[in-house]
Amino acid sequence: MKIGSFNRKSFYTTRFVFFFCFIFSFGTLIELSAQIETAAAAMANDNSGRWVLVIHGGAGGGVKGTMAEEKEKEYLVKLDEALNFGAKMLAKGGTSLDAVEAVIRFMENCPLFNAGVGAVLNEEGRAELDAAIMDGQSGMAGAVAGVSIIKNPISAARRVMEKSNHVLIVGKGAEIFAKKQGVELVEPAYFITPERQQEWEKWKSKKTGNPGNNQAKPVNPTPGQEKHGTVGAVALDQQGNLAAGTSTGGMMGKMVGRVGDTPIIGAGTYANNKTCAVSATGYGEYFMRDVVAYDLSAMMEYSGITIEKAGQIIIMDKLTQQKANGGLIAVDKDGNICLPFNTNAMFRGFAKSSGEHEVAIY
Ligand code: ASP
Repeated sequence: MKIGSFNRKSFYTTRFVFFFCFIFSFGTLIELSAQIETAAAAMANDNSGRWVLVIHGGAGGGVKGTMAEEKEKEYLVKLDEALNFGAKMLAKGGTSLDAVEAVIRFMENCPLFNAGVGAVLNEEGRAELDAAIMDGQSGMAGAVAGVSIIKNPISAARRVMEKSNHVLIVGKGAEIFAKKQGVELVEPAYFITPERQQEWEKWKSKKTGNPGNNQAKPVNPTPGQEKHGTVGAVALDQQGNLAAGTSTGGMMGKMVGRVGDTPIIGAGTYANNKTCAVSATGYGEYFMRDVVAYDLSAMMEYSGITIEKAGQIIIMDKLTQQKANGGLIAVDKDGNICLPFNTNAMFRGFAKSSGEHEVAIY
């Protein structure tokens, strides 16, 4: 080849090599920036191994000393088991959503609580169950209400969130949907325990007229009087995601078709990664009118109030002024918790990655 002369082959080879290098380095750059983005997102979500789980088994008016010591122990053992069950999942890196659903299923399957088997009965002596779950990361939520053949309503609620375009499905529709989704169904009689039957007979014997007469008002489950409450769980996982769930039989002697606060997103159940996750328990009608769970989140979001203060304002000020009984559990995005209640008792517990672990009733 003469110097200075044009060599077509070498010209095209050089261009090809140049083009190849350009594409290669461009591809590497894109890949690199994607990796940086993923790492940044992971850092933003990194909770440094921190997780928190808070649970409740309902609030009521029972004064300390009215419940048999043995019974009290039974409750504490079950709360502890539920807490350990969920804590193990979160410690292993499980999601808050999975932990909340699993813990609530566990409590629904325990006849001590007013959710799943052992739920209180409506004015006709049947169990009608409500449940909701919410994912604080995506803002998605699912709920079922007035169902009588779904063994674990919380799992049906999760399917509504993940497998339908809806948030709340009630009655027959929810049961048909649950069946299609492979959620376990049972006979309505499955939910009725001898204790609840007895309580219902007692309630019925007081009933002298229409539902709503003073003698036979629907009863807010009261621990000391063996009418136990709703179950709920809120969690913060190691990825920094919040979730909340609640499940209930509602109130003893409630009207057929009555739906409480539990499955109403923002009333009894709410989660938002920007603020907190909340599960409430108490006289549902007040909790719905006061939009309790969302109110707590909104106070934190718009006023910068701490979770502790917001919980106090809602339960101890607002609800107490209305003579409305109840409580709530909540965890914020930084792992702070609050468990206020204005009743004599609230079955509750919490566990944290720091090693803190507590269950209590009064
Ligand atoms: N909040 C429930 C309801 O009104 C009852 C409870 O939490 O005890 O349905």
